[in-house]
Amino acid sequence: MHTAVISDIHGNLPALKAVLEHIDGQNVDRIICLGDILGYGPYPVECVDIVAERCEWSLMGNHDFGVLYEPTNFNVAAEQAAYWSREQFELESNNGDAKKRWEFLSQLRVRITEGDFLYVHGSPRRPINEYLFPEDAMNSPVKMQQIFDLVDKYALVGHTHVPGIFTDEPDFYPPDDLDGVYKFNDDEKVIINPGSVGQPRDLDPRASYAILDDDSVRFFRLEYDIEAIASKIRATPELLDWLGDRLFEGR
Ligand code: ZN
Repeated sequence: MHTAVISDIHGNLPALKAVLEHIDGQNVDRIICLGDILGYGPYPVECVDIVAERCEWSLMGNHDFGVLYEPTNFNVAAEQAAYWSREQFELESNNGDAKKRWEFLSQLRVRITEGDFLYVHGSPRRPINEYLFPEDAMNSPVKMQQIFDLVDKYALVGHTHVPGIFTDEPDFYPPDDLDGVYKFNDDEKVIINPGSVGQPRDLDPRASYAILDDDSVRFFRLEYDIEAIASKIRATPELLDWLGDRLFEGR
């Protein structure tokens, strides 16, 4: 089974399209999404429609939750973007499918298990909101232990927008250190972050996703039209310009 794993799209339609086009050439059996379809980006409605159509399922991320219910612990730009995104679902021109979209968003789960695999947006401890940062592997042994205790064998997480593999040593490996492929070992647990489609934060501005195979995971980075999304953000007064500027830097 080959599963394309996408996460943290954040309303970035050009990035999502580039990733899906690449996935379509990879012979995958299905696509799943670890959440944060919404937030920051100017194409919330389009991205929800595509995820609903193309993904077998999606999790609920903190930004999806923020748009659907209430943005909590967000900075001003993120909060403003959440309210703006919610408005887009209410606009008359979108209304034909408004009910369907709200239903899709409200049925998103926060945690899914399939055999040895656990899927959450944030962390196994706090599925929507906790960040599992690469530096935690070095600096936070208790946190890592508690999190790995909740993992049977494999977990997939998003939320930090930083792709890579955590092992229960604990250790963290960015995809560049692995030549883009990590083969699972029988005697270890791993947590995989596919990175972010729509807002990478590892100083590489290219869209990120991963393909999960039976005994390994492959990471991919893709160029997309960042200027197109940044100019759309600039043209949307409710979305602050720096939300577009940061995309060029991957942070
Ligand atoms: Zn996110």
